[in-house]
Amino acid sequence: MYINTHQLKDQASVVIDETVDLSGMLNDVQEVLSIAPAHLRLKAVETARNTYRVDGSITTEMTYRCARCLSPFSRRVEIPFDEVYATEESLEDGDVNIFDGERIDLAPAVEQAVLLSIPLVPLCETSCRGLCPQCGTNLNVDTCGCERRAADPRWEALTRLFEQS
Ligand SMILES: [Zn+2]
Ligand SMILES: [Zn+2]
Repeated sequence: MYINTHQLKDQASVVIDETVDLSGMLNDVQEVLSIAPAHLRLKAVETARNTYRVDGSITTEMTYRCARCLSPFSRRVEIPFDEVYATEESLEDGDVNIFDGERIDLAPAVEQAVLLSIPLVPLCETSCRGLCPQCGTNLNVDTCGCERRAADPRWEALTRLFEQS
C-alpha cells in the first residue's frame, strides 16, 4: 500500500489497483467478525509541488454481528477514499497527511476509512426483531411462549441497581 512519488514525476497519475488483507486491524472490533480481502482502486495525482491527492474506493465484504439478534451477516461495502498527502514544507493547509516526500504509506488512511465505515449499531435488517429477553429465542426465525409484557417492576429495580454500579 505504498506510492513512490518518483513515479508521479514522469506520469500524470498513478493508479493503485491492489488487493490487501485488512483483517489484522479488526481484531479489536467486536462488531466485525471478518473482512474479505479488500480491493483498493485509487488514483494518485500531484496537485501542487509535493502535494498529492489520492482518491477512489475500497471495496470489500464484511461480516458483522447483528446488535439485536447476534447473528452474523455479510455486507458488501464500497468505501470512498479521498486524501491529500503533502510534505511538511509544502504550503497546503487543512486536512492533509504529512509524508516524507518520497513514499506515501496508504495503510493508515485506508484502515481509518474502513473503521469509520463500520455502523455503530450493525443490524442484519432494520426490522430485526432481536432475541427474546427471557428465553433467548431468535424472534426473526421462531416464536416463543414468553409473555411480551412491559418489564416486570421488580426487574426494573434490579436493572437500575446494575446501572448504578
Ligand atoms: Zn438481527
Ligand atoms: Zn421467549
